[in-house]
Amino acid sequence: MLTDTHAHLNDKAFDADRAEVLKNARALGVERIVEIACAPADWAGGEAMAAANAGMRCAFGIHPEYVKDFDLAVLPRLETFLAKPCAVALGEVGLDYWWEAARREAQLELLAAQLPLCAKFGRPAVFHARNGKEQGQDAYAELLSVLKGWNYSPKARFRGVLHCFSGGWKDAAAALDMGLALGVNGTFTYKKNDDLRLTVKKAGIANIVLETDCPYLPPQSARGQRNDPAFIPEIAAMVAGHLGLGNTQTADATTANAFALFGEF
Ligand SMILES: [Zn+2]
Repeated sequence: MLTDTHAHLNDKAFDADRAEVLKNARALGVERIVEIACAPADWAGGEAMAAANAGMRCAFGIHPEYVKDFDLAVLPRLETFLAKPCAVALGEVGLDYWWEAARREAQLELLAAQLPLCAKFGRPAVFHARNGKEQGQDAYAELLSVLKGWNYSPKARFRGVLHCFSGGWKDAAAALDMGLALGVNGTFTYKKNDDLRLTVKKAGIANIVLETDCPYLPPQSARGQRNDPAFIPEIAAMVAGHLGLGNTQTADATTANAFALFGEF
């Protein structure tokens, strides 16, 4: 059984064929999906989708790209969603210095406002970190430094996941030390991504979860197209080949990691 730990299926890119996409993914063995509802406008839609689909759960939070519209008044509503039975995580939350480098302070405030909700609701976090275009805009280093003061302790092995991991081995090692899993997606299959493949090899199968981040970031074979959870088997097969493991072993291990992170569902 495979798990897509990071999907945005509520995106309008799926309006025409959402049910078909879900059915197709399930037929290919992708039986568990975590929908990331990371803008206030997405929360209710995420909850409704999870209610209608067995094997789907939700993360609720505010992505750093929405920092410009952020108003503290929305937090009580976020709490009502984190209290729902379908909620398995806070997220995605974090720091994006690629698109929003100019709003660094505001992003740090947005993150600080949401992080205490993990301890309050007993839920892990899905983190987003993207470094900026200029030297010194190091989202990974700053996020990891913020997390040194993060007081959430999970029952299981992981406190959160660094989704769409794109940092170096130094960032990965610091994240693993902090009890974070690494989210591996289609970028693992990109021709130029030898650094990421090396990092994943060093981290080992015990520390990674699979994700698509659909509709974005399809694997190499489908670049330029819409991504969806049906690409998880292809990503899993590349990870398996790279780590010298079998496909079933890789599917089972990464799903077990997803359950260690989010709880079994
Ligand atoms: Zn995402």
